[in-house]
Amino acid sequence: IKGTHLEHFRFYTSQMKIEAQHKIDMESAIRKGLMKGEFIPFYQAKVSCKTGGVVGMEALARWVKADGKIISPVDFIPLAEELNLIHEIDTRIITSAVRDMAEWEKAGHNELVVSANISATELEDPAFVDTIFSILEDNNVAKEKFELEVTESLIMKDVEKNAQILEKLCTSGINCSIDDFGTGYSSLSYLKKLPIKTLKIDRSFVNDIMTDHNDLAIVCAIISMARRMGLKVVAEGVEDADQVELLKKEGCDIIQGYYYSKPLSKKDFLDFINLKRDR
Ligand code: C2E
Ligand code: CA
Ligand code: CA
Ligand code: CA
Repeated sequence: IKGTHLEHFRFYTSQMKIEAQHKIDMESAIRKGLMKGEFIPFYQAKVSCKTGGVVGMEALARWVKADGKIISPVDFIPLAEELNLIHEIDTRIITSAVRDMAEWEKAGHNELVVSANISATELEDPAFVDTIFSILEDNNVAKEKFELEVTESLIMKDVEKNAQILEKLCTSGINCSIDDFGTGYSSLSYLKKLPIKTLKIDRSFVNDIMTDHNDLAIVCAIISMARRMGLKVVAEGVEDADQVELLKKEGCDIIQGYYYSKPLSKKDFLDFINLKRDR
């Protein structure tokens, strides 16, 4: 029966079994990981173009296994979303990030704003917004010191509804920024309806600004539009000095990328900001 439908059928069903088993294994691994507190934030610095100082950091989820192995969010976030475990993970990440932030504020780093990422189901869940409010209150961290990075494609799923939710967040003092800006296939007309403060230019546009005319044109257009609208601009994925120079010249406000620092563990990040401050 080589080459027949039956053979294909057998192949696919055994493939599907393997995938289904993998999901079951991952689900119990994630649940155990949550119980053991293995999901923690790493922090990547955001650097002001004007002053060169660290003005904030993005909390990025990491799964740190007992043996020290670190698993990237791209390898567990999509599945966690599918399994409805993302809410639990993000709550942990935000709780840890806000707690760390309170600690660093006490140590004299009061210029920092911490940002966190959320997934599609969370923005639209009123309880999640309240969870964030209470985490901030419990740790005595001002809402102004916290920022949510919401991807453009997430917002575009239901602009009218999400605009209202963002409005509630914004009037409370929490900052909202549009993440992965330029990748969401959206019309620009929605921008003026959203109460956001910051645009974050996606890494895919920043990567090749030194060599690709079109990418450069897009980045420059986003920066000048943002400035005219009174929005701040963050460029992510900046890896070398030429890019920094160019982005500064074009009027970008904040730079985030390997050029300054990779995402770091809590301890390493504190060392990093202390070093920068003392210099
Ligand atoms: P993102 O929000 O767009 O985050 C930026 C990603 O670019 C991060 O990857 C960061 O490590 C990486 N990056 C920053 N600078 C550079 C650079 O100069 N060069 C290169 N090559 N990469 C750079 P990471 O940490 O693997 O996160 C991937 C994505 O996973 C994030 O993309 C975000 O969408 C999602 N994610 C991360 N943490 C969380 C979380 O706590 N909750 C949720 N819901 N999603 C998260
Ligand atoms: Ca982000
Ligand atoms: Ca991005
Ligand atoms: Ca992203």
